Amino acid sequence: MKLLLSHADILTLKDGQWHTLRDAYLGIQDDTICYLSETAPTEAFDRIKSLPGKLLIPGLINCHCHAPMVFLRGIGSDLKLQDWLYHYIFPTEAKWTDAGVRAASELAILELLGSGVTSFSDMYYRNAQTIQALCEAGMKANLCRSTQGRPELPYEQNTDCKEGLALFDQFHGYNGGKIRIDLCIHAEYTNTPATIEAYSAACFERGAGMHIHLSETQHEQMECIKKYGMTPAALFEKLGTFKNRTTAAHCVWVTQEDMDILKANGVSPVHCPSSNMKIGSGFAPVQQMLDRGINVTIGTDGAASNNNLNMLEEMHLASVIHNGYTGDPTVVKPGDVLKMATVNGARLQGRSDTGNLELGKKADIVAIDFDKPHLIPALDYPAMLCYAVQGSDVCMTMVDGQILYQDGEYLTVDAERIRVESRRALKELYE
Ligand SMILES: [Zn+2]
Repeated sequence: MKLLLSHADILTLKDGQWHTLRDAYLGIQDDTICYLSETAPTEAFDRIKSLPGKLLIPGLINCHCHAPMVFLRGIGSDLKLQDWLYHYIFPTEAKWTDAGVRAASELAILELLGSGVTSFSDMYYRNAQTIQALCEAGMKANLCRSTQGRPELPYEQNTDCKEGLALFDQFHGYNGGKIRIDLCIHAEYTNTPATIEAYSAACFERGAGMHIHLSETQHEQMECIKKYGMTPAALFEKLGTFKNRTTAAHCVWVTQEDMDILKANGVSPVHCPSSNMKIGSGFAPVQQMLDRGINVTIGTDGAASNNNLNMLEEMHLASVIHNGYTGDPTVVKPGDVLKMATVNGARLQGRSDTGNLELGKKADIVAIDFDKPHLIPALDYPAMLCYAVQGSDVCMTMVDGQILYQDGEYLTVDAERIRVESRRALKELYE
């Protein structure tokens, strides 16, 4: 099957700079981009889809999410982190069933696809339910089984770790590579050094990726130094975690030395501005990390601490909050933020075949409707994407050449059934 997208503007990254092709053509052979030019192709295509007034960008990659937590959206808001976790989040999560996680995952996928996300990195449990929902929808994700709440058990008896490894063995590369499995150490403070070390070694043996929370709060940073005489980043490095391709969510309180460690080990931090602002965690040193050449990415975190999974909103916040915090409007530029949300995310996920619109890459493509009043004129597309575009301006989301969302409609899943089942599952969860 050969599909040609025509008469759209196309944003593509070349030699580290964003370029716009005007009134251009993007051809897709099965799941791969096979043509890209401002000149019409001479070869024949099976189908032509004309998109005047639309901008094509690489699919957005949400690098830190707890997708099923959409069902916990808004509960216990505006409390201190520990009160919120122990009095609201953990007691509600204790009532999860497989069916509940499945329904919540489906609801999250609707939200993600509808706002231009083609792939996300998810840390949670009962992951097989999320994987089934992803396969039905045709979406990509890196999933990992969270490890938390069992620090009293030695590694050999830690069932969370066992489940994580089994998940990797069963599902890594599943559904034509759309599903990838990482391992997870929830955080330094929810696991013992012995478990972190053993699990990091098991990760290395398998060549898997690792997904952790790192230096999210000042409390976490200070307690770790008090307990171990070193920062969380130094501890993870010492215990061998960073020998693996590592996703480090938040990195709000990392020191200069921590940033050197992240750079030296190729660790990818995930900036989660909504979550950091809502929980009051602080401002991650994003520009300093970018200046060091660190692969900084963007994530929404879970909907309980956000309260949505809208990457365009995260891009907006990432572009403005650091200006306000530092008093310098030149920091964290839109072009860099767009890289964080696309090509850097692909690198974090170990997906070298996506993240940019160029020949030979997978056709993971999002179309934005620039005919909307608030998007005229569009003199600088990266700036518009970060300062003006809303999640609801996404009019098409395509994964591996297949259109999954278009003009408010979902083409692979029954959105109405998902809404009905969500309401039923929510009733059970909150009864
Ligand atoms: Zn998180």
